[in-house]
This record gives sequence, C-alpha cells and structure tokens, in this order.
Amino acid sequence: MSVKYLSTRGDPTERSFSEILLEGLAPDGGLYLPARYPYIDDATLTRWRGLSYADLAFEILSLYIDDIPKSDLVRLVRSTYTEAVFGSPQIVPLRPLEDGIFIQALSNGPTLAFKDMAMQLLGALFEYELGRRGQKLNILGATSGDTGSAAEYAMRGKRGVKVFMLSPYGRMSPFQQAQMFSLQDPNIHNISVEGVFDDCQDIVKAVSNDLAFKRKWAIGTVNSINWARLLAQVVYYFAGYFQATKANFETVSFAVPSGNFGNVCAGHVARMMGLRIEQLVVATNENDVLDEFFRTGTYRVRGSAETFETSSPSMDISKASNFERFVFDLVGRDGARTAALFGGGIDRDGGFTVTAEESARIAGFGFVSGKSTHADRIDTIRDVWERHRTMVDTHTADGVKVARQYAKPGTPMIVLETALPAKFAETIHEALGRDPVRPAGLEGIEELPKRFTVMPVDVEGVKRYIETHA
Ligand SMILES: *Cc1c(COP(=O)(O)O)cnc(C)c1O
Repeated sequence: MSVKYLSTRGDPTERSFSEILLEGLAPDGGLYLPARYPYIDDATLTRWRGLSYADLAFEILSLYIDDIPKSDLVRLVRSTYTEAVFGSPQIVPLRPLEDGIFIQALSNGPTLAFKDMAMQLLGALFEYELGRRGQKLNILGATSGDTGSAAEYAMRGKRGVKVFMLSPYGRMSPFQQAQMFSLQDPNIHNISVEGVFDDCQDIVKAVSNDLAFKRKWAIGTVNSINWARLLAQVVYYFAGYFQATKANFETVSFAVPSGNFGNVCAGHVARMMGLRIEQLVVATNENDVLDEFFRTGTYRVRGSAETFETSSPSMDISKASNFERFVFDLVGRDGARTAALFGGGIDRDGGFTVTAEESARIAGFGFVSGKSTHADRIDTIRDVWERHRTMVDTHTADGVKVARQYAKPGTPMIVLETALPAKFAETIHEALGRDPVRPAGLEGIEELPKRFTVMPVDVEGVKRYIETHA
C-alpha cells in the first residue's frame, strides 16, 4: 500500500511525501493532506506505549512516509529528538498542575517554543531530501520573533540550505534579537529591515511573486502549512496520551493555545487515527477568529484594524492558515465544497458560514473553544504561580484559562505548553512583579556578538543580497 497526498481543493493529482516535503500550497491553492488517515489498533497502541519519543516518532512517520528508506528515517528522527536538544529523556514530559489538569512541556528545545518540535525535524528532512536530489534551497522568511528563530536553529549548519530571515529593525525584544543574531553559522543570514513586520512580509511576497527570480535562486519557505511540520506534531499527542493513561480504553482531552491552527490540527489528525481524545479545546486570545467559528459556524477573516497586538503575540492572527485542513474533513473531504468556501467565500465575502448540517458535525470531531484576554492571562499566570509555584508563559496561560472551563472529572485535560516564560519577561513581570528564570546556558546571551545586516525597505536590495550570498 502506498501513501498518497491530495489537495483540500480537489486537485486529483496524487503525490508522494517527498514530492510535497519542500512545497507550500498545492498548485490549486489548497493544502496537502494524506488520502487517508491510518488507523491505530489496540495492539499497535500497546506496543507503542513502551517506545522512546524518537522511536514513537519513527513509527508514526513511517505510516505517512514510504519514499524514504526506513533505515534513513530512523537515523533522522533519532538524531533529532535527543535529550541534548530537548532537555529531558522524555522530550515532552507531562507534569500535573491541579485536579485533572496537566501541562505537557513542548518548549524545551533551542528557541524555547513548541515550534522547535517540528522545525528541528524539518531541518533534518530538508537536508536529507536536498542531498538526495543534489539540490540547494534558499529559505526566505519574515519574522517578528518566534518562527524565524525556530527556523534558523533548525537549519543552522545544514548542507544545501541557506536562510534569509527578515525582521523589523529594533522591534524585537532584546532576548529575541540575541537568540537570532548571535548565530554565527555562515548559512544563516539575518536581514534587519528598517520598517515594521508588515514591510518584511511584503518584501518576502514581492520576491516570491517574481517567479523567474524564485526559480533561478531556488527560493523556498518553512511556513506552518508545510505538511511535514504538522506530521511531526502528531507525535506528541500520542506521547502525551501515553504519559496520562495506563490503558488504551482511557480518554484524555487536550487544550491548545492556537493561532494558525497548526498545533491543534495535529491533534485532530491524531484523533482521526483513533487516539482516544475526547475534547480538542481550541484556546485563542483576543484574536478570536477560531473561537468565533467553533461557537457560531461562521469563519470571518479579520482586517488589519481588527487584528490586535496582544501579550500572547504568537497567536495574533487575522486568519488561521491551517484551518482549511479541518474544514476539508468536516465537509466529508469534498474538495469542490472546500474550494467554494476558501477560494470563493473568503475572496468574495471575507468569510463563510457552514450549513446547519455541517455545523452539527463539529461536535463529533471533539472540538470546543474559548478565548482569553490580557486580564485573563495576567490573572492565570498569577493564580498558577500563587497556588502551584509554577510559572507559565502568556500563551500557555491562555490554554490553562480555557482548559479550566472544559475540564471534567475522570478525563485528564492536557494543556500544551507552547513557550517558556523566559521569552515573555515583560508580561511575567507585570503579573508577578519578578522576572522569569532563564534556562541554563541562556544567561547573558544579549552580550554575545551579533551578526546581522541592516537594510532599508527595498525589494531590489534584498534580491541583490540574496544573489551575492546564495
Ligand atoms: C506558533 C505559536 C502558537 C500558535 O500555534 P498554531 O500552530 O499557529 O496554532 C502558540 N503559542 C506559541 C508560543 C507559538 O509560538
């Protein structure tokens, strides 16, 4: 049996994993999904319970990747998910918080946020696939902090890959700047643009829309719609389930601080594979596009005036770029219907409302939702600190707040910790009147020598920089 991927918008071409690994959108504008989700039976689940994180990752990935030899795949995952990189032998350890609520740590990788979980594997897969093809890739991206640093730490020193990361000059926190700009690897290029984040993003779009330039210089991206990133995230739902349960009939719920719907979509995939997840709790901040959908069945993309800068900035979105994957499953994998909603409805009306019948199916997928405000975040950080002497970051606090609304006796509620408090010292200080502790090795990184290039907002200038450094 071979594993094939299709587009959510109905393009009938079937593709293999390696064909979509380096891609973003499908040619018809849809997102890639496997043609079917493998079902995990009881015997397999029992066998997986005893595995290390890397070996569990290998088992799950092998079900979706049949065009990389197993001996290579096992080597790639074992060299990615190590105690040295992720700080503990369990990789994603679970700790109890309070009656039935647990916190699963996903943020002990190099950039202290959960994006490392997927991005580190992506770095290994990209290097492998490019080496196999004898190709090179120049990754171009824009960041206001999190994604850019996760990408740089994943791609540093990787053969065949160069990273050109644009960030707004002087607008990142000193810690974020230090994390990115202290990298001395010659394949990492930090371009500090004299503008705001949107200027950086506009430059990336302009360069990518120049198709001749894009092809000539093999420009690629690592954004969150990449299927391999999502697949890597499926693994920690299984790992969380195994830590919270003793037997396969037990159920758990997950609460997920959400923005682009990549993280919780991986939970949806795990659930479609038969993992006994009762509820997938989507927690948003003031940017509540997703909460609104799960409450009302209406998905409404926000304009820039309605997109707020919050103290959980990695969840500040105007639309959720992975959401189309879930809607495809919700409408019975009908590509034409998904294309009508996302290609038609959004372009024409800025959103869509699913039918009553489609809406009635949402509960069957386990999704519920809630939102959190800055005041909730501060209260939650303070309350969790005072009652449990545990410090959570602002995004995880959004997860805890909404998890408490849905927790039920008898079903462990696992909150995914998506970042460490050390990254958001300012808000932690506001809540607790003290600074978060920094993980060992990161004290004083602001003092390290920095390597970056300052440039004006100028598409041609960025192109010239790429031409001379690619
Ligand atoms: C990216 C990110 C999120 C949101 O995850 P999505 O996959 O976009 O839903 C939440 N918290 C942190 C800290 C992040 O970096």
